[in-house]
Amino acid sequence: MTEPHDLLTLSKIELRELVMAWGEPGYRAAQLDRWLYQELATDFGAMTDLPRALRAQLRERAYVGALTQVAETVSADGLTRKALLQLNDQHTIETVLMLYLDAAGGEAALPTPLPERRTVCVSTQVGCPIGCPFCATGQAGYVRNLTSGEIVAQVLHFARAVRPAALTNVVVMGMGEPFMKFAVTWQALETLCDPARFALGARRITVSTAGEIPGIEQMMREPLQINLAISLHAPDDALRDQLVPLNRKYPLRDLLRAVKAYTAETRRRVTFEYALMDGVNDAPDQARALAQLLRGMLCHVNLIPLNPTRASPYGRASPERVAQFESILRAANIPTTLRVEKGIAIAAGCGQLRSSQRMGNELSRSH
Ligand code: SAH
Ligand code: SF4
Repeated sequence: MTEPHDLLTLSKIELRELVMAWGEPGYRAAQLDRWLYQELATDFGAMTDLPRALRAQLRERAYVGALTQVAETVSADGLTRKALLQLNDQHTIETVLMLYLDAAGGEAALPTPLPERRTVCVSTQVGCPIGCPFCATGQAGYVRNLTSGEIVAQVLHFARAVRPAALTNVVVMGMGEPFMKFAVTWQALETLCDPARFALGARRITVSTAGEIPGIEQMMREPLQINLAISLHAPDDALRDQLVPLNRKYPLRDLLRAVKAYTAETRRRVTFEYALMDGVNDAPDQARALAQLLRGMLCHVNLIPLNPTRASPYGRASPERVAQFESILRAANIPTTLRVEKGIAIAAGCGQLRSSQRMGNELSRSH
């Protein structure tokens, strides 16, 4: 471990080892965990139950990796907030907070009390090397992986913003492919689930992958019961090779075999995401092919009308096609939901705030 240490990057054991290497008793690590993940502190001075000498040591040799918000867009109904956050090396990533109204909720701006679900969508990479042509992140290219501390810091950013309420869900569906560095992503999720740390239930977390099979196989062996989503977007290899280029490495047959092994092992239902694009993957025949492909699987399909991005030729499927696609899947007994995109008006969707910020777009308000 090189200094200075971002404490958010350290596993519980690593933090304990660090504290003990400084000659402190191991229980100081548990006190630190409480300050970092429950009190959401960033300043060692506030950690008043730690000895002065340890606080001085921490100030000198460690830091709490907080991210700087450089822009934010808020949807008209106030329920979706998308933050552009700056990392230590000046690169930026997107993190989104989504508030869902419960059944009794109204349409007022920023309702009080806050609605039942408060979900944060985190990024795992700066850009993404997979390069799906309909995705703003994929179009922008790839810079680097995030550290587990940088993944956790995104959650803490919005955990601070919603106080005194608490976050209820985390989805790993921002920029980047989370399973390209499985161990890094998983360590972040372990920190979030640890009852002595952020204490979020594993079942309240969903990870989305473009189909990185080794990650699916690793996740299957992990004890944490985190949900898995797969970005499918096409019912055949010829089309999926174009839409999700990772398919050339892990074709549908192999991918679905891995997913079947996963559901057999875990008994957990997987979600297939399918972004409906006008005239590309929204035909009734494609819906039937998809139903055929997924028949008998312990799964659920999440249809997402595409959020068209500036630089891509792909358009959003019409409401009629979306409804038809949905009804074909339902008729074939495939559990299906339609995601209603809340943040479209503020350029929501993977990577779009970052790309509009780069172009100096008026949508992004600087803070
Ligand atoms: N890289 C991972 C996770 C992040 S993307 C993955 O691809 O699974 C989360 C979801 O949003 C994925 O299903 C992705 O394909 C989808 N997505 C990306 N760009 C989109 C757009 N412009 N409109 C609708 N969905 C999009
Ligand atoms: Fe990467 Fe996911 Fe975007 Fe594809 S959809 S480019 S995998 S972030």
